[in-house]
Amino acid sequence: MNTAKRQGLVIARHRRELEIEDEDGETFTALVLGRKLRPLAGDRVLFGLEKDGTTVVHEILSRDSLLERIDSRGQGEGVAANVSLIVVVIAPEPAADWQLVDRYLVAAALMDTDAALVRNKQDLANNELDSRADTYREIGYKVVSTSTKTRQGLDTLANVLNGQRSVLVGQSGVGKSSLINSLLNREAQAVGELSERRALGRHTTTAAMLYRLPGGGELIDSPGVRRYAPKIADPTELGFGFIEFRPYLGQCRFNDCGHSIEPDCAVIAAVQAGSIQRARYQSYLALSETLARLRD
Ligand code: GDP
Ligand code: ZN
Repeated sequence: MNTAKRQGLVIARHRRELEIEDEDGETFTALVLGRKLRPLAGDRVLFGLEKDGTTVVHEILSRDSLLERIDSRGQGEGVAANVSLIVVVIAPEPAADWQLVDRYLVAAALMDTDAALVRNKQDLANNELDSRADTYREIGYKVVSTSTKTRQGLDTLANVLNGQRSVLVGQSGVGKSSLINSLLNREAQAVGELSERRALGRHTTTAAMLYRLPGGGELIDSPGVRRYAPKIADPTELGFGFIEFRPYLGQCRFNDCGHSIEPDCAVIAAVQAGSIQRARYQSYLALSETLARLRD
């Protein structure tokens, strides 16, 4: 019997059971021994076949990135590993929460992960939403317009996801399940009212799932990712999360400048010169206050 350790990719996580795919694409159901080892979808692991016939995960290989959410006790909890792209979905309905969009983008930037915006429900016109989305394009984010009803933009989205391991985040109801189904060409996710209930029920069975996209790339979906509230650990790093602030950071008079009321602030100067959008700056200030309140 071959007891050598092999490398695998975690493609689904149930409670203490994992579905693992080895380098040849063969799948295994494996057990995780011990409470300390907490593999996530997207993790590369070392696993082996035991003498009793069970497959056991021994080790998690080092992660390129870790997506963490805040659990009910305010602690960070891993939801997915080695994600390379965070896709923030917005729509006319429910109305976009731009503060939340910026929180996602900040979290992505601080974990050194690319981010993109999807403006879904393009079949529902909304000029205000479109012009605000355009401002993110100016900052340098990819913005893709889609409709799962008309299938507009789905090929473009598939191209953006190709070669990446992505997660879709965003408010409930913006169309994440619908987009996943459209991309996979099957009903992998229940849409609408059913989806929340299904997701809750699923929480006890499958905590996370990694899908291979027909157009290339992988997509991780899980209730944890669905309820993902971005964790921003260090408030002094907040400025780095606003990627268009970066050229100005380090040019303020004070090293620990909070870019709010300090004299000779390079960020405020850039806002006044029109190089940084006022809306994003306001969002920075609001987030900065929120984080300060959480700290106290
Ligand atoms: P999720 O909560 O983000 O997963 O959103 P769902 O995929 O469950 O979709 C929420 C609702 O929006 C459902 O009623 C969908 O039929 C609807 N929806 C999804 N995509 C579109 C779209 O492109 N256009 C329109 N008009 N409705 C959509
Ligand atoms: Zn400053």
